[in-house]
Amino acid sequence: MLTKAEQILLEGIKAGDAEIWQQLLDRYQGRLYSYALRMLNGRSADAEDVVQDVFISFLKNLSSFEGRSSLESWLFLILRRRIIDMFRRKKADISCLVNDLISEDSDSGELLTNGGLIEKMTASGYARNSECKERLSAMLADALSELTDRLKSGRNFRDLKVIELIFYAGQGNKQVAEILALDANSVAVIRHRFIEKLKGMLSDNSELPEGGSIDGLLSETWVEGRFTCPKRSTIGSWLLGTLDEDWSAYVDFHLNTVGCAICRANLDDLESTIKQKQQENVLRQKIFESSIGFLT
Ligand SMILES: [Zn+2]
Repeated sequence: MLTKAEQILLEGIKAGDAEIWQQLLDRYQGRLYSYALRMLNGRSADAEDVVQDVFISFLKNLSSFEGRSSLESWLFLILRRRIIDMFRRKKADISCLVNDLISEDSDSGELLTNGGLIEKMTASGYARNSECKERLSAMLADALSELTDRLKSGRNFRDLKVIELIFYAGQGNKQVAEILALDANSVAVIRHRFIEKLKGMLSDNSELPEGGSIDGLLSETWVEGRFTCPKRSTIGSWLLGTLDEDWSAYVDFHLNTVGCAICRANLDDLESTIKQKQQENVLRQKIFESSIGFLT
Protein backbone atom coordinates (compact mmCIF):
# COMPACT_ATOMS: atom_id res chain seq x y z
CA MET A 1 0.00 0.00 0.00
CA LEU A 2 1.21 3.49 -0.82
CA THR A 3 1.46 6.22 1.77
CA LYS A 4 0.02 9.66 1.10
CA ALA A 5 3.53 11.03 0.58
CA GLU A 6 4.29 8.34 -1.98
CA GLN A 7 1.06 9.03 -3.85
CA ILE A 8 1.90 12.72 -4.07
CA LEU A 9 5.39 11.90 -5.32
CA LEU A 10 3.99 9.58 -7.97
CA GLU A 11 1.39 12.04 -9.18
CA GLY A 12 4.05 14.72 -9.52
CA ILE A 13 6.30 12.39 -11.46
CA LYS A 14 3.50 11.31 -13.77
CA ALA A 15 2.84 15.01 -14.42
CA GLY A 16 6.52 15.40 -15.39
CA ASP A 17 7.60 17.54 -12.43
CA ALA A 18 11.41 17.50 -12.42
CA GLU A 19 11.72 18.82 -8.89
CA ILE A 20 9.56 16.03 -7.51
CA TRP A 21 11.58 13.54 -9.50
CA GLN A 22 14.72 14.90 -7.85
CA GLN A 23 13.01 14.44 -4.47
CA LEU A 24 12.39 10.79 -5.23
CA LEU A 25 16.00 10.31 -6.31
CA ASP A 26 17.26 11.98 -3.12
CA ARG A 27 15.03 9.83 -1.02
CA TYR A 28 15.93 6.42 -2.45
CA GLN A 29 19.26 6.56 -4.24
CA GLY A 30 21.39 6.23 -1.11
CA ARG A 31 19.82 3.02 0.13
CA LEU A 32 19.67 1.48 -3.35
CA TYR A 33 23.31 2.31 -3.94
CA SER A 34 24.35 0.83 -0.57
CA TYR A 35 22.48 -2.36 -1.39
CA ALA A 36 23.98 -2.61 -4.88
CA LEU A 37 27.46 -1.99 -3.51
CA ARG A 38 27.00 -4.77 -0.99
CA MET A 39 25.67 -7.23 -3.55
CA LEU A 40 28.36 -6.36 -6.10
CA ASN A 41 31.19 -6.75 -3.62
CA GLY A 42 32.09 -3.08 -3.53
CA ARG A 43 32.35 -2.54 -7.28
CA SER A 44 31.24 1.09 -7.20
CA ALA A 45 31.10 1.72 -10.96
CA ASP A 46 28.81 -1.29 -11.46
CA ALA A 47 26.70 -0.21 -8.49
CA GLU A 48 26.28 3.28 -9.95
CA ASP A 49 25.33 1.84 -13.33
CA VAL A 50 22.78 -0.50 -11.94
CA VAL A 51 21.13 2.15 -9.73
CA GLN A 52 20.92 4.49 -12.69
CA ASP A 53 19.26 1.69 -14.65
CA VAL A 54 16.75 1.15 -11.87
CA PHE A 55 15.51 4.72 -12.00
CA ILE A 56 15.31 4.73 -15.79
CA SER A 57 13.43 1.45 -15.73
CA PHE A 58 11.14 2.84 -13.02
CA LEU A 59 10.20 5.80 -15.23
CA LYS A 60 9.76 3.67 -18.31
CA ASN A 61 7.45 1.28 -16.52
CA LEU A 62 5.59 3.78 -14.39
CA SER A 63 2.25 2.69 -15.78
CA SER A 64 2.75 -0.92 -14.66
CA PHE A 65 3.29 0.05 -11.02
CA GLU A 66 0.05 -0.80 -9.27
CA GLY A 67 0.97 0.42 -5.83
CA ARG A 68 0.43 -2.98 -4.21
CA SER A 69 3.81 -2.78 -2.54
CA SER A 70 5.54 0.30 -1.23
CA LEU A 71 7.62 2.43 -3.55
CA GLU A 72 10.75 1.26 -1.76
CA SER A 73 9.93 -2.44 -2.22
CA TRP A 74 9.19 -1.83 -5.88
CA LEU A 75 12.50 -0.08 -6.46
CA PHE A 76 14.39 -2.83 -4.64
CA LEU A 77 12.59 -5.45 -6.69
CA ILE A 78 13.75 -3.76 -9.91
CA LEU A 79 17.25 -3.50 -8.44
CA ARG A 80 17.41 -7.19 -7.52
CA ARG A 81 16.32 -8.19 -11.01
CA ARG A 82 18.91 -5.89 -12.56
CA ILE A 83 21.66 -7.35 -10.41
CA ILE A 84 20.61 -10.87 -11.32
CA ASP A 85 20.66 -9.87 -15.00
CA MET A 86 24.09 -8.37 -14.53
CA PHE A 87 25.40 -11.59 -13.02
CA ARG A 88 23.83 -13.66 -15.75
CA ARG A 89 25.42 -11.49 -18.42
CA LYS A 90 28.79 -11.57 -16.71
CA LYS A 91 28.57 -15.30 -16.39
CA ALA A 92 27.76 -15.65 -20.07
CA ASP A 93 30.68 -13.40 -21.04
CA ILE A 94 33.11 -15.32 -18.90
CA SER A 95 31.95 -18.70 -20.11
CA CYS A 96 32.57 -17.59 -23.71
CA LEU A 97 36.17 -16.95 -22.84
CA VAL A 98 37.22 -19.64 -20.47
CA ASN A 99 34.36 -22.07 -20.78
CA ASP A 100 34.78 -24.97 -18.44
CA LEU A 101 37.43 -23.47 -16.24
CA ILE A 102 34.84 -21.63 -14.18
CA SER A 103 32.64 -23.66 -11.95
CA GLU A 104 28.89 -23.22 -12.19
CA ASP A 105 28.38 -21.28 -9.01
CA SER A 106 31.44 -19.10 -8.91
CA ASP A 107 29.39 -15.97 -9.50
CA SER A 108 26.16 -16.63 -7.73
CA GLY A 109 28.04 -17.51 -4.55
CA GLU A 110 28.80 -13.85 -4.04
CA LEU A 111 25.15 -13.03 -3.88
CA LEU A 112 24.09 -15.32 -1.10
CA THR A 113 24.38 -12.82 1.67
CA ASN A 114 20.74 -13.06 2.55
CA GLY A 115 19.91 -16.69 3.10
CA GLY A 116 19.56 -17.63 -0.53
CA LEU A 117 17.24 -14.74 -1.24
CA ILE A 118 18.68 -13.88 -4.60
CA GLU A 119 18.94 -17.51 -5.52
CA LYS A 120 15.23 -17.90 -4.96
CA MET A 121 14.51 -14.88 -7.10
CA THR A 122 16.61 -16.34 -9.89
CA ALA A 123 14.88 -19.67 -9.68
CA SER A 124 11.34 -18.42 -9.73
CA GLY A 125 11.32 -14.66 -10.04
CA TYR A 126 10.50 -14.60 -13.71
CA ALA A 127 8.13 -17.50 -13.84
CA ARG A 128 5.14 -15.67 -12.52
CA ASN A 129 3.00 -15.22 -15.53
CA SER A 130 -0.03 -17.21 -14.67
CA GLU A 131 -2.90 -15.10 -13.46
CA CYS A 132 -3.87 -17.68 -10.89
CA LYS A 133 -0.45 -17.52 -9.31
CA GLU A 134 -0.62 -13.73 -9.28
CA ARG A 135 -3.92 -13.78 -7.46
CA LEU A 136 -2.79 -16.42 -5.00
CA SER A 137 0.33 -14.40 -4.33
CA ALA A 138 -1.74 -11.26 -3.70
CA MET A 139 -3.97 -13.11 -1.25
CA LEU A 140 -0.99 -14.64 0.45
CA ALA A 141 0.50 -11.18 0.81
CA ASP A 142 -2.65 -9.90 2.54
CA ALA A 143 -2.75 -12.87 4.89
CA LEU A 144 0.96 -12.67 5.70
CA SER A 145 0.76 -8.99 6.35
CA GLU A 146 -2.12 -9.53 8.79
CA LEU A 147 -0.50 -12.46 10.58
CA THR A 148 2.87 -10.77 11.02
CA ASP A 149 1.15 -7.56 12.19
CA ARG A 150 -0.65 -9.59 14.83
CA LEU A 151 2.61 -11.09 16.06
CA LYS A 152 4.23 -7.66 16.17
CA SER A 153 1.39 -5.96 18.02
CA GLY A 154 1.20 -8.91 20.42
CA ARG A 155 4.98 -8.57 20.85
CA ASN A 156 5.40 -12.26 20.14
CA PHE A 157 8.93 -11.81 18.89
CA ARG A 158 9.84 -15.44 19.46
CA ASP A 159 7.33 -16.71 16.88
CA LEU A 160 8.10 -13.81 14.59
CA LYS A 161 11.78 -14.72 14.59
CA VAL A 162 11.02 -18.39 13.96
CA ILE A 163 8.82 -17.81 10.93
CA GLU A 164 11.08 -15.10 9.60
CA LEU A 165 14.06 -17.43 9.65
CA ILE A 166 12.05 -20.17 7.97
CA PHE A 167 10.24 -18.25 5.27
CA TYR A 168 12.33 -15.14 4.71
CA ALA A 169 15.80 -16.50 5.34
CA GLY A 170 15.08 -20.02 4.07
CA GLN A 171 16.44 -21.90 7.09
CA GLY A 172 15.41 -25.41 8.12
CA ASN A 173 13.78 -26.23 11.48
CA LYS A 174 17.01 -27.58 12.93
CA GLN A 175 19.05 -24.49 12.05
CA VAL A 176 16.30 -22.24 13.38
CA ALA A 177 16.30 -24.12 16.67
CA GLU A 178 20.06 -23.71 16.94
CA ILE A 179 20.06 -20.01 16.07
CA LEU A 180 17.30 -19.17 18.55
CA ALA A 181 18.31 -21.69 21.21
CA LEU A 182 14.91 -23.41 21.10
CA ASP A 183 14.22 -27.12 20.83
CA ALA A 184 13.44 -28.37 17.35
CA ASN A 185 10.02 -29.55 18.42
CA SER A 186 8.89 -26.06 19.47
CA VAL A 187 10.09 -24.72 16.15
CA ALA A 188 8.08 -27.36 14.29
CA VAL A 189 5.00 -26.50 16.35
CA ILE A 190 5.32 -22.76 15.69
CA ARG A 191 5.81 -23.39 11.99
CA HIS A 192 2.83 -25.74 11.83
CA ARG A 193 0.59 -23.33 13.73
CA PHE A 194 1.53 -20.49 11.42
CA ILE A 195 0.86 -22.50 8.25
CA GLU A 196 -2.48 -23.67 9.63
CA LYS A 197 -3.54 -20.10 10.38
CA LEU A 198 -2.47 -19.04 6.94
CA LYS A 199 -4.37 -21.87 5.30
CA GLY A 200 -7.39 -20.98 7.40
CA MET A 201 -7.27 -17.46 6.03
CA LEU A 202 -7.06 -18.76 2.47
CA SER A 203 -9.43 -21.68 2.93
CA ASP A 204 -12.39 -20.39 0.95
CA ASN A 205 -10.08 -20.14 -1.96
CA SER A 206 -10.30 -22.80 -4.63
CA GLU A 207 -7.03 -21.77 -6.21
CA LEU A 208 -4.80 -23.27 -3.55
CA PRO A 209 -2.67 -25.91 -5.25
CA GLU A 210 -4.19 -29.27 -4.46
CA GLY A 211 -2.27 -31.01 -1.74
CA GLY A 212 0.70 -29.06 -2.98
CA SER A 213 2.97 -26.99 -0.84
CA ILE A 214 2.77 -23.23 -0.88
CA ASP A 215 6.20 -22.89 0.72
CA GLY A 216 7.93 -21.74 -2.46
CA LEU A 217 5.36 -19.10 -3.30
CA LEU A 218 5.21 -18.12 0.35
CA SER A 219 8.94 -17.38 0.46
CA GLU A 220 8.77 -15.50 -2.78
CA THR A 221 5.82 -13.40 -1.60
CA TRP A 222 7.64 -12.75 1.65
CA VAL A 223 10.76 -11.54 -0.10
CA GLU A 224 8.70 -9.15 -2.18
CA GLY A 225 6.44 -7.97 0.61
CA ARG A 226 9.12 -7.79 3.32
CA PHE A 227 6.51 -8.28 6.02
CA THR A 228 8.96 -8.47 8.89
CA CYS A 229 11.28 -5.69 7.78
CA PRO A 230 11.30 -2.81 10.25
CA LYS A 231 10.50 0.61 8.83
CA ARG A 232 13.41 2.85 7.92
CA SER A 233 12.41 5.17 10.77
CA THR A 234 12.53 2.21 13.18
CA ILE A 235 16.04 1.35 12.00
CA GLY A 236 16.88 5.01 12.61
CA SER A 237 15.52 4.80 16.16
CA TRP A 238 17.45 1.57 16.73
CA LEU A 239 20.61 3.35 15.63
CA LEU A 240 19.93 6.17 18.06
CA GLY A 241 19.12 3.71 20.85
CA THR A 242 15.61 5.02 21.45
CA LEU A 243 13.70 1.75 20.94
CA ASP A 244 12.46 -0.31 23.86
CA GLU A 245 14.37 -3.44 24.75
CA ASP A 246 12.20 -5.99 22.91
CA TRP A 247 11.99 -4.02 19.70
CA SER A 248 15.64 -3.19 19.82
CA ALA A 249 16.53 -6.88 20.18
CA TYR A 250 14.25 -7.73 17.29
CA VAL A 251 15.72 -5.10 14.95
CA ASP A 252 19.18 -6.28 15.93
CA PHE A 253 18.15 -9.83 15.05
CA HIS A 254 16.73 -8.77 11.69
CA LEU A 255 19.84 -6.81 10.76
CA ASN A 256 22.55 -9.01 12.19
CA THR A 257 21.20 -12.55 12.40
CA VAL A 258 18.88 -12.65 9.41
CA GLY A 259 21.20 -10.16 7.72
CA CYS A 260 18.38 -8.67 5.64
CA ALA A 261 20.30 -7.00 2.82
CA ILE A 262 17.73 -4.30 2.10
CA CYS A 263 17.53 -3.22 5.74
CA ARG A 264 21.30 -3.30 6.02
CA ALA A 265 21.48 -1.03 2.98
CA ASN A 266 19.09 1.34 4.75
CA LEU A 267 21.29 1.15 7.82
CA ASP A 268 24.44 1.96 5.82
CA ASP A 269 22.67 4.89 4.25
CA LEU A 270 21.34 6.19 7.58
CA GLU A 271 24.76 5.87 9.19
CA SER A 272 26.44 7.86 6.49
CA THR A 273 23.72 10.51 6.67
CA ILE A 274 24.22 10.83 10.42
CA LYS A 275 27.99 11.03 10.00
CA GLN A 276 27.59 13.70 7.35
CA LYS A 277 25.24 15.67 9.63
CA GLN A 278 27.77 15.45 12.46
CA GLN A 279 30.57 16.69 10.22
CA GLU A 280 28.36 19.52 9.04
CA ASN A 281 27.59 20.44 12.64
CA VAL A 282 31.26 20.48 13.56
CA LEU A 283 31.97 22.71 10.58
CA ARG A 284 28.99 24.91 11.42
CA GLN A 285 30.25 25.31 14.98
CA LYS A 286 33.77 26.07 13.76
CA ILE A 287 32.57 28.71 11.32
CA PHE A 288 30.32 30.20 13.97
CA GLU A 289 33.12 30.41 16.52
CA SER A 290 35.64 31.82 14.10
CA SER A 291 33.26 34.43 12.76
CA ILE A 292 31.32 35.48 15.85
CA GLY A 293 33.98 37.99 16.87
CA PHE A 294 33.43 39.89 13.65
CA LEU A 295 29.70 40.29 14.27
CA THR A 296 29.01 43.88 15.15
ZN1 LIG B 1 14.60 -6.26 6.20
